[in-house]
Amino acid sequence: MRSPLPGPTAQAFLLAIAMLAACTPDGNTPPATDTTIAPVTGQEAVADPVHSAVAAAFAIDSEALMQRMLARDPAWSIYAGRYDDADRVTIPDAARRADDLAFAETELAWLARVDPQTLPPELRIDHNLLTNRLERMRWYLTEFRDWQWDPSNYNVAGPIGLILNTPYAPEADRLRTVMARLEQVPAYYQAARTNISNPTREHTELAMVQNRGTLNLLGDSLRERVAASSLETAEKDRFEQLRQRAVETVDGFIAELQAINDGLATDDNARPFRIGADLYEAKFAYDIQSGFTARELYERAVAEKNRLHDDMDLIAVQLWDEYFPDQDMPEDRLDRIGQLIDHLSDQHIAREDFISEIERQIPLLTAFVAEHDLLDQDPTRPLVVRETPEYMRGGGAGASVSAPGPFNPTADTYYNVTPLDDYTDEQAASYLREYNQWVLQILNIHEAIPGHYTQLVHGNKSSGLIKSLLRNGAMIEGWAVYSERMMLEEGWGEQAPEMWLMYGKWNLRVVTNAIMDYAVHVLNMNEQEAMDMMLREAFQEQTEAENKWRRITLSQVQLTSYFTGYAEIYDFRERLKADMGDDFDLKAFHNRFLGYGNAPVPAIIDMMQPRN
Ligand code: ZN
Repeated sequence: MRSPLPGPTAQAFLLAIAMLAACTPDGNTPPATDTTIAPVTGQEAVADPVHSAVAAAFAIDSEALMQRMLARDPAWSIYAGRYDDADRVTIPDAARRADDLAFAETELAWLARVDPQTLPPELRIDHNLLTNRLERMRWYLTEFRDWQWDPSNYNVAGPIGLILNTPYAPEADRLRTVMARLEQVPAYYQAARTNISNPTREHTELAMVQNRGTLNLLGDSLRERVAASSLETAEKDRFEQLRQRAVETVDGFIAELQAINDGLATDDNARPFRIGADLYEAKFAYDIQSGFTARELYERAVAEKNRLHDDMDLIAVQLWDEYFPDQDMPEDRLDRIGQLIDHLSDQHIAREDFISEIERQIPLLTAFVAEHDLLDQDPTRPLVVRETPEYMRGGGAGASVSAPGPFNPTADTYYNVTPLDDYTDEQAASYLREYNQWVLQILNIHEAIPGHYTQLVHGNKSSGLIKSLLRNGAMIEGWAVYSERMMLEEGWGEQAPEMWLMYGKWNLRVVTNAIMDYAVHVLNMNEQEAMDMMLREAFQEQTEAENKWRRITLSQVQLTSYFTGYAEIYDFRERLKADMGDDFDLKAFHNRFLGYGNAPVPAIIDMMQPRN
């Protein structure tokens, strides 16, 4: 799980982080040593002097708007790696919501006065991202209203954890910043209590679990850390007073949630976690920024599932006698695919070789991309493979990419790999079967080359503050998922049927996530039906499926982002190939696509569309 989210205003951005966090845990932004902001670059020359004057003014004004949005939201700043206002807590009360709404209306009115068609592509994307972000903020406040029914919006832990874990300033200074935040904890939770109205059971329970985590963060280890620090005695006493008061406040909040939850248990009219068709379509439009509607995307995903099953069955039939010479092939195609996957999963590396094997593969992937001329790479920005730092672990084993934030763009990019040390033999065996010799390669493609890491290197060249902070999660995840299939198509894995079979299983996870998210929230799919789909049609393990069900009950739309971005990129490429014939150049397509930064896929498609 990720660190708890702060209040509703920060939520918009944190959801964007969360999209990336499934692969790239947040809470790892390196210290902001440099607060200069990269200029918006890559603008195409605009010959028309009126247009270029408009563009120049918009570049300055839009950047200033972005800075105002950030300044209004200190928690967002902290997550983005800037700590100037880190002592300020946003109190999520009615006055704040009114202020947010007025801010959104004013800025939207200004944006509406700028015709995006008069702007060069880079700035048109910024206009699109800012407009969407503000419209989305207004919609969350006035229509979605999760500030009322999702108590897990309320938690003070996230920013405090980052301040404590990130050495951006001397220890004593950071403790003073935490002390200032502790001072505001009672007012924060008072506003939270006032806001909560008819919450769902699922989000109430989540809020209790996450706020118990907050009690740990504020507990003995913090007390001991302060006692051992270089703070003056009087400051230490004051800190301890505030810490105890914060603990009491969070305790009281949890007790109140418990009482609410007890009432919900017997309340047949309690709010359901399913958000229904109307809210789902709107949330999909704002959160994903897709060219599909949610319904179209769902239908596209169902078709993709059937296609994958067809492909995987051809492979199962082809390989059956080789791996099961003495065993009849099952009649049911899902049975035979599942048995073959199960059998092949035994081929995995030893647990002690997990990190060294990943290190070994990275240069091989780099070389493959270069030899096959797939896209530009930048040898001056190498990917550093490291063991995941202790404070980022928590969620068991895994791999993720930590990119430098917008305020220190020249920092290293890390590929964090968590060793399997904390696992029992049984847990390690299960994990290694999941990340068997084929899937581990696909994971490295997704996270590193040419997936997330490569996309970030390209994106950073053209990004600027707006594209960096308002990055589109569906584009980022979609690119990583697209890159898996593209690499296999180009010959990584030498077209081995085993590789394609395991790719099918891996990709089915993304496809069924998209199907289930829509089906559960809009079509009333129940838990048993979802579990059947995951276990039988996507060949998942019981534990993974149970965790996924829980995630579907707690989030909406986000699980579709991977498939949406992937399907849009892949479909667009196929359309271009059909239109351009022999003129289509894969490397040029990739370089150009990645050159627009973290923009929504439909916006990139609009820029890349051949015009008559
Ligand atoms: Zn990813």
